[in-house]
Amino acid sequence: FMARGRPVLGERKECLGAVVTIVDITNMKVLDRLKSEFVAKVSHELRSPLSTIHEQLALVLNDLMGQLSESDEHLLSRAKEKTQGLISTIGDLLDLSRIESGITCQELKPVQLEELLGNIVDFLGTRARTKSQSLTLEHPDQPLPTIKADPLALESVFGNLIANAINYTQNGGEIVVRLDMTGINLRIRVIDNGFGIEERYLDKIFDRFFRVKTDKTRFITGTGLGLPIVKGLVESLKGRISVESAPEKGSTFTVLLPVD
Ligand code: ADP
Repeated sequence: FMARGRPVLGERKECLGAVVTIVDITNMKVLDRLKSEFVAKVSHELRSPLSTIHEQLALVLNDLMGQLSESDEHLLSRAKEKTQGLISTIGDLLDLSRIESGITCQELKPVQLEELLGNIVDFLGTRARTKSQSLTLEHPDQPLPTIKADPLALESVFGNLIANAINYTQNGGEIVVRLDMTGINLRIRVIDNGFGIEERYLDKIFDRFFRVKTDKTRFITGTGLGLPIVKGLVESLKGRISVESAPEKGSTFTVLLPVD
């Protein structure tokens, strides 16, 4: 059931009572589950033929290297890139439907975030360097408490956020991953001085397939599924995510995760 209420006020704004609406959302939940199952099934069915097409295009391109006209080579390469894009979208859709239906086979163990974030920063540092960006991790000298979580889920959360910071920041930009404690939560901020996001889009970017298209971001490839996956995973860890951003100034994504 879902309940909504509002007060009933008198002429002098005194409270006379309240109207409460209680809605039975069983059908909505069932429909939601059927939708998730349908998306998962269709995605699964599409993935293997698409992978075959992708492999075969790669083989043809390789075998005919140097024998194709420039335009044919361009067409085949575009077809190969597009199938790769579809394969990533399908992978993301499958992940998302698993997270939404709660069937994630998460293996919970104590995780030291300094180390996990350090590995991601090392790994993605190569990509940042190709854009002459600096990517650094800052954390207190004393060890922070561990959190009980699935390391793969955490890698997906911070890998996505840091990859976005790299993608949506100009060459030569700066990205800082800052880790500290606030109250009972570990706080991880991914801060960039990149393209930023207009205020009116800030709550929409967590919706599936939503992508902000500006002159600077139009040609950046992506699926629009990264942030919904990140949000779903953070919530499955009982955490919260928020964003602050301003166009041309940059963005800060903040994740709060309760410690053990
Ligand atoms: P994708 O990156 O595949 O498009 P996401 O769900 O990860 O999908 O992000 C949704 C949109 O949010 C992006 O298309 C981009 O417009 C915006 N966005 C995400 N991260 C940033 C960032 N660090 N700076 C600016 N815009 C961002």
